[in-house]
Amino acid sequence: MPTETMMAWAVDKPGPIDSSPLRRVTRSIPVPGPGQVLVRVHACGVCRTDLHLAEGDLDPKHPLITPGHEVVGVVDRLGEGCARFGLGDRVGVPWLAHTCGVCRFCLTSQENLCLAPRFTGWDEDGGYADYTLVEEGFAYAIPDEFSDEKAAPLLCAGIIGYRALRRSRLPQGGRLGIYGFGGSAHLTAQIAMAEGARVHVMTRAPEARELALQLGAASAGDAADPPPEPLDSAILFAPVGTLVPPALEALDRGGTLAIAGIHLTDIPVLNYQRHLFEERAVCSVTANTRQDGTEFLEAAARIGIQVSTVPYPMDQANQALSDLAHDRVNGAAVLINP
Ligand SMILES: [Zn+2]
Ligand SMILES: [Zn+2]
Repeated sequence: MPTETMMAWAVDKPGPIDSSPLRRVTRSIPVPGPGQVLVRVHACGVCRTDLHLAEGDLDPKHPLITPGHEVVGVVDRLGEGCARFGLGDRVGVPWLAHTCGVCRFCLTSQENLCLAPRFTGWDEDGGYADYTLVEEGFAYAIPDEFSDEKAAPLLCAGIIGYRALRRSRLPQGGRLGIYGFGGSAHLTAQIAMAEGARVHVMTRAPEARELALQLGAASAGDAADPPPEPLDSAILFAPVGTLVPPALEALDRGGTLAIAGIHLTDIPVLNYQRHLFEERAVCSVTANTRQDGTEFLEAAARIGIQVSTVPYPMDQANQALSDLAHDRVNGAAVLINP
């Protein structure tokens, strides 16, 4: 029997996004190994991490890697021993592709810090393709409330934002500052508001400020503007290190700034008195646990989270990444297979 083939995008030569660093390739449809399922991709969200990978800010783990880790599709084939999903079930394939299960972090509910993790669309070929593989234990069932397109951004933007919110240690009814307002931030803001927070958004794009106010933010200012009141917590979504000092300065005493991205430009010199004293804290956010993902998807379905998406045909991956790079996407870009 001849091998069936599929279309996939691959990072050919990382470089500036407007040089179209992704190339379309034809590959064999992968065969699921033990514990893996083959997913026919319906939709795949476009995450800023894909852009970092395409542009070379993140080194590809192997040549011609296929990006994409916000995959929604249906189970097409089951590997040996798979029992969690049935053929045709709708599943999500997230960033976290594998953890070792035996290191000290895996054994203490911190699998996001696993010493030997693998990630979808970085170590493993991802969802900018017709098909992708996932270990069944790392896939999510997708709540019926969401279409394929609306569900895709939940799988990284949503889950990582949720972890960032938890890491920011926002107190009940607290004041949260959100710096940058794209795919992840607009979901996180809704969770925070549903939990009773007052949210202030700082972002450079006027359309994003408008979206923030529509969704119920208490204020929306420019990227480095001081918020109208001191913050208990802040989350930096923009990959811009120069925003760290103004975000720290905006914190009330005892406040926490969580930096959500996997990549950040250099942070300028901080002044201890202005930026850190009075027990202000800054922390990073590294991937997520499966528990974060499960909690977030439940909360998203419960509150009827609104997902702002812009669909692109799968064959326009370079265009979608370019639009993301140039702030031309209001919400989250999602690649759709025909
Ligand atoms: Zn992502
Ligand atoms: Zn581990």
